[in-house]
Amino acid sequence: KRLILIGPPGSGKGTQSPIIKEEYCLCHLATGDMLRAAVAAKTPLGVKAKEAMEKGELVSDDLVVGIIDEAIKRPSCQKGFILDGFPRTVVQAEKVLDDMLAKQGTKIDKVLNFAIDDAILEERITGRWIHPSTGRTYHSKFAPPKVPGLDDVTGEPLIQRKDDTAAVLKSRLEAFHRQTEPVIDYYSKKGAVVNLHAEKPPKEVTTEVQKTLL
Ligand code: ADP
Ligand code: ADP
Ligand code: ADP
Repeated sequence: KRLILIGPPGSGKGTQSPIIKEEYCLCHLATGDMLRAAVAAKTPLGVKAKEAMEKGELVSDDLVVGIIDEAIKRPSCQKGFILDGFPRTVVQAEKVLDDMLAKQGTKIDKVLNFAIDDAILEERITGRWIHPSTGRTYHSKFAPPKVPGLDDVTGEPLIQRKDDTAAVLKSRLEAFHRQTEPVIDYYSKKGAVVNLHAEKPPKEVTTEVQKTLL
């Protein structure tokens, strides 16, 4: 299966991804994670992407094309993949991704739309804690770790993302509505979109995801 997870920041894409990945043995490609790794390693890509990311704006299309092209060609991704955080613009969807897949003779099977009201997202984002090496995600109120600030499995420290503040969330939501929502319309016209109730508790969202992938 070739899946796209689309939804605003905090809608639960990263929380559901590991479950989908395990169950269907798909590779998980998160452009945000790849870009954060590039920023941390100060690669040429990371240096160029850093400023936009800190402001909560999208990185330019040409910067993400390279990473996604490399990722989709990996042998481990040939049976299917979950795209998390990509495509974020109609150009990325139509000109980059769909062209890339057409050359392979494949296409996107489903787009899971994590539909949710903006009002819920600030509390989710400002309470988010992440175990950086695995991407395991906690929430200070909704899913607290056993020991505050430490990962349940490894005992290693958890971090908060620099852009997970109320102020930067505002720009990220603006970017989502202006640039990413049109991607949902684009795939709706192709009949590929499934709408999820992303405001529900994680387990209920998982059940909805499983039903759509049967
Ligand atoms: P995204 O990857 O879409 O930005 P995450 O999956 O990282 O979002 O979720 C953002 C925060 O909200 C995390 O702290 C996570 O634990 C929490 N969260 C995820 N899904 C739910 C849910 N269904 N209900 C309540 N909190 C959730
Ligand atoms: P979120 O939790 O908001 O869904 P991500 O981890 O997917 O965040 O993305 C973090 C940041 O990385 C975005 O605010 C944006 O600056 C950049 N980014 C990630 N994916 C893309 C993309 N496909 N196109 C442009 N910018 C991207
Ligand atoms: P259980 O104790 O029934 O096995 P969990 O420990 O998975 O359930 O979850 C306890 C509560 O925390 C549930 O209400 C669930 O919806 C919520 N929860 C679990 N994981 C997350 C998450 N990543 N983000 C937000 N809330 C979560």
